[in-house]
Amino acid sequence: MLTVFGSVALDTTRTPFETKERIMGGAATYASMAASFFTPVSLIGVVGNDFPNAYYDMLKERVDLKGLSINNNKKSFFYDSSFDYDLSHRTTNVTQLNALEDYNPVVPAEYTETKYLYLANNDPIQNIKIIEKFKQPSLVVCDTIEYWIQNKKDAVFSMIEKTNGVVINDQEARLLCETSNLLKCGKELLSRGPNFAIIKKGEHGVLFFTKDTVIPIPGYPLESVVDPTGAGDSFAGGFFGYLISRKSDKVISDLSVMKKAILMGSVMGTFAIEAFGPEKLFAISIKDIHTRYNKYKQMLLV
Ligand code: AMP
Repeated sequence: MLTVFGSVALDTTRTPFETKERIMGGAATYASMAASFFTPVSLIGVVGNDFPNAYYDMLKERVDLKGLSINNNKKSFFYDSSFDYDLSHRTTNVTQLNALEDYNPVVPAEYTETKYLYLANNDPIQNIKIIEKFKQPSLVVCDTIEYWIQNKKDAVFSMIEKTNGVVINDQEARLLCETSNLLKCGKELLSRGPNFAIIKKGEHGVLFFTKDTVIPIPGYPLESVVDPTGAGDSFAGGFFGYLISRKSDKVISDLSVMKKAILMGSVMGTFAIEAFGPEKLFAISIKDIHTRYNKYKQMLLV
């Protein structure tokens, strides 16, 4: 089982072509949904009194929500962002922590044995605290986002030191590591302790770093990009879910498995961005996923 700790949100997303207000969002929402195709997922997070029941019920169909609390005195975490014409560069307009502020996460007793933990975009200080609540996690992977890098950069690095892997996008990597060169960013991230780092470059794919190697993997070419929100979280969910489905503790030292997990993560990212919010992740089947994965693998054969 994978435990995902992170934001469950209401998002307003503006593209040059369309705007959708207060739709289901949140890093943990996307990551859990994507991972749920490969492994059982439990989610720890909080929503406020404005989170629609319909969204809650949709998520509950796929994800164990015993760890999702409802704060009836506050609103849900809210994120408003705009994308440029290339649907790649994002500008954050508003971040309202609401229920996430002063949130004191409770880990249900039955989750504390979880071996796999994904930390999706929450406050890095909370992330550090939550890692300590698990008895013996064998694989902890984290992401972060502009807001935390700008407000709690040292804590972001302290969190990274406690993980086995970092998954982060290029914009965030440059901001965090204070260099424009992504190879330097990768090295900097690894120097903090994790076994691997993945820098996501949107439509251009990813750079995968271990202490011994750096591997570039191109993105899956997609014509129907609608809303890139959640691509990174869905990537992480698909990647992590695939690793768990291999049922081996040694996965992260097996480059071939890691590369396949990256392809699967990329495939899940492409589904996420074909519609606004996580809508498409609710609509696809495992067959759709494997069809796209096999097509992608075929494209990459050299
Ligand atoms: P991504 O597009 O994968 O980088 O992640 C986008 C998701 O992260 C959105 O659905 C937001 O609700 C969520 N998000 C944005 N900013 C934050 C933040 N400061 N803390 C937690 N979650 C956030």
